[in-house]
Amino acid sequence: MTLDIANIRKDFPILDQKVYNKPLIYFDSAASSQKPLCVLKKEEQLHVEYYGNIHRGAHYLADQATNDYEAVRDLVKDFIHAKSREQIIFTKGTTESINLVAFSYGEAFVAKGDEIIVTEMEHHANIVPWQMMAERKGAKIVKLPFADDGRLEIELLDQLITEKTKLIAVAHVSNTLGTINPVKEIISKAHAKGVKVLVDGAQAMSHLKVDVQELDADFYVFSAHKIYGPNGVGIMYGKKELLSQMPPYQGGGEMISQVTFEKTTYNELPYKFEAGTPHITGVIAFGEAIRYLQNLNIEEVATYEHQLLDYATGKLLEIPGMQIYGTQKEKSGAITFNIEGIHPFDLGTMLDKMGIAVRTGRLCADPVMDHYQQPAMIRISFAVYNTLEEIDQFIDALKKLVAMLG
Ligand code: PLP
Repeated sequence: MTLDIANIRKDFPILDQKVYNKPLIYFDSAASSQKPLCVLKKEEQLHVEYYGNIHRGAHYLADQATNDYEAVRDLVKDFIHAKSREQIIFTKGTTESINLVAFSYGEAFVAKGDEIIVTEMEHHANIVPWQMMAERKGAKIVKLPFADDGRLEIELLDQLITEKTKLIAVAHVSNTLGTINPVKEIISKAHAKGVKVLVDGAQAMSHLKVDVQELDADFYVFSAHKIYGPNGVGIMYGKKELLSQMPPYQGGGEMISQVTFEKTTYNELPYKFEAGTPHITGVIAFGEAIRYLQNLNIEEVATYEHQLLDYATGKLLEIPGMQIYGTQKEKSGAITFNIEGIHPFDLGTMLDKMGIAVRTGRLCADPVMDHYQQPAMIRISFAVYNTLEEIDQFIDALKKLVAMLG
C-alpha cells in the first residue's frame, strides 16, 4: 500500500483535537466526511478573490466564478464517466436529487396504477420521495426485501417486475448494512423488461470507482459532503433521453429560456434543472475534493478501507453479545451493531464522552430497524483518514463500557 495515512491526516486538521479532553476518533464519515484543507482553502479563496454570481454577470468576477463552476461539471462528468456534461445536474444533495427525479420523472412517465420498486434497505431519502410521487400519481410502491444477512433478494425481481413497473430505486451501498448491492445485475434485469433504475450512490462514491455508462444506470445520485466535499452540493446524473423528456422540478432564474406572462420556455440541459443561484462556492470547492480523491487513487482507498472494515469486524466479534447487522462479503464503509442487554443510546453517549464519534439511532432507515425489530443501532463508519490504532482504542473503550453496563 502506498497511502501514507499519517500524512493524509495532516490534510484534515479537525481530526487533530481533543474532545472532552480525549483525542478525537471520528467514526461517523458515512453521515458526513471531514474535508481536506484544499477544499476549505478553495472556498475561502473564492470568497476572497473572485466571488460573483454565475452565468448572469458580464463582469470579470462573474466570468471567473462561472468558468470554475462549469469546469467542475466537466470534472464530475469524467469522475463518473458520463457521456456528456449536460447529464450532470447540480443539486443540494442526494435527497434533493432523488426528489427531483421522483417529481420530474413521475410527471413525465408515471400514471395511475404504475409501480415503483424500492428496496427494504433504502435510506428514507430513497423511500419518501417515491411515496409522495406515488400518492400524487395514484401509483404503488412495491418492496424488494433483503435477507437477514443483508443480501438483497434480487431473485424476487423476476416476480416483482410486472408490466406496471416503471422504475427501481436502489442504494449502491446500504448506509446501515454496508452491503454493496449488485446494481449492474439489477439494472440489466430491469432493462430487459423496459424498467428504469435510479441508483442512490450516497454511500458508494467515496469507496468505489463508479462508471455510470458501464453500469448503464438511468439515474445516479450522490452528495459531495460524503466524499470530502462541502455540504449543500449534490449530483443528479441522468440519461439524456430521459432528462430531455422530463419537466423542470423548480421554476426561477436560469432554468428559463424566455419568460412572458403568456408563455415561458425552458432552458436546455443541464440548466433546465438548476433554478436559482446554486451553491457556487460549494460546487467549485467540490472540484478540489474530487481531485484530492483522484490523487489518492480510489482503488487504493477502497482497499485500505476494506482492511479497516475487516479488522474492526474481527475485533467487534470478540465482544460477547455482539450482533452485527449486515454480514455480506461485498461490504463497504460501515459496520452497524448492537450489544445484547445494552441500549445503543447509552453506549453512543458514553463513547462520545471518551472522544469517539459514532452514529446512534435509527440511521434514517426505519424499515431496516423494523426488519431486525430493533429500536436503534450503533454504526461506525470509516474514511481514508482512519487508522487501525483508532479501531484498537475504540475496541478497548467498548470493552470497558460493556464491562460497566453489561
Ligand atoms: N442515501 C443514502 C444511502 C444515505 O446514506 C444518505 C445520507 O446519509 C442519503 C441518501 C441522504 O443524503 P443527503 O443527506 O446528503 O441528502
